[in-house]
Amino acid sequence: MTSYVLPADVPTVAVAGEAARFPVRRIYCVGFNYAEHNREMGRDPLKEPPIFFSKPGDAVLADGADLPYPPRTTNLHYEAELVVAIGVAGRRIAAADALGHVYGYAVGNDYTRRDLQNVAKDKGRPWDTAKGFDHAAGIGAIHAAARIGHPRRGRIWLKVNDSERQHGDLADMIWDVPGIIAELSTYFVLRPGDLIYTGTPAGVGPVVPGDLVVAGIDGLGTLTNRVVAETALT
Ligand code: MN
Repeated sequence: MTSYVLPADVPTVAVAGEAARFPVRRIYCVGFNYAEHNREMGRDPLKEPPIFFSKPGDAVLADGADLPYPPRTTNLHYEAELVVAIGVAGRRIAAADALGHVYGYAVGNDYTRRDLQNVAKDKGRPWDTAKGFDHAAGIGAIHAAARIGHPRRGRIWLKVNDSERQHGDLADMIWDVPGIIAELSTYFVLRPGDLIYTGTPAGVGPVVPGDLVVAGIDGLGTLTNRVVAETALT
C-alpha cells in the first residue's frame, strides 16, 4: 500500500502470561454504572440508566507508564474500572450469549478532565475533550477468560500515594457485563480488539503531578501509573 503519511502503529495491551499482545480497535466506556458514584455526581440512578461514551484506541496507557498531566485542565480525576476485552465479533448480542464474545478482563483507569466534563454537561456539549485525550485510558495486563473465568463480583479499589480513595465491588454494577455487551451491541457491531470500560465506583477525585495511582481488582492484579508534569512530555 502507498500512503501519504506513515500509518500509525496499532496500539496493543499486554496479556498476562503470554508473549502475544492484544491489539486495540475501539474503546467504549460506560458512565454512571455504580449507584453510589451516581449519587456523588448528583445523579439519581433510579431515574436515568447508565450511558455510553468512547475514547480513541490509541489513548491506552500501560501498567507502569507515566501519565503526563494533560493540558487544558486543572482537575484531572482517576476512575478505577473493570475493562472487558472483546474477542469475538457480534451485533445485537443476547445477554445469555454475551460472555462468549469476551476474550478477557483487565484493571482500567478512565482518566477524566473533570472540569471540562462539568462544562460539557452544563452546556450539553460532547465529552470528547474531557474523556478522549492522549493517555486517558489506563489499562493493566488482560487476563484471558479461558484462564480466569468471568468475574461477576470482587473488590475494585484505587489508591493515591498508598491512601485508599475508591473501593467497591463488581457485583454492584447497575449493568453487569452481559447486560453491557447486550446493550452496546445494539448500537455498534463489536469486533475483536474492542475494549469496554464498565464504569467506576464512588470516590473519584483529583491527582496532581508526582502522585502514584494504583488501581486493583481481585484476580486481575493492579494497574500503576505515575502522574508527571506535562513538561516531562517528549
Ligand atoms: Mn468512567
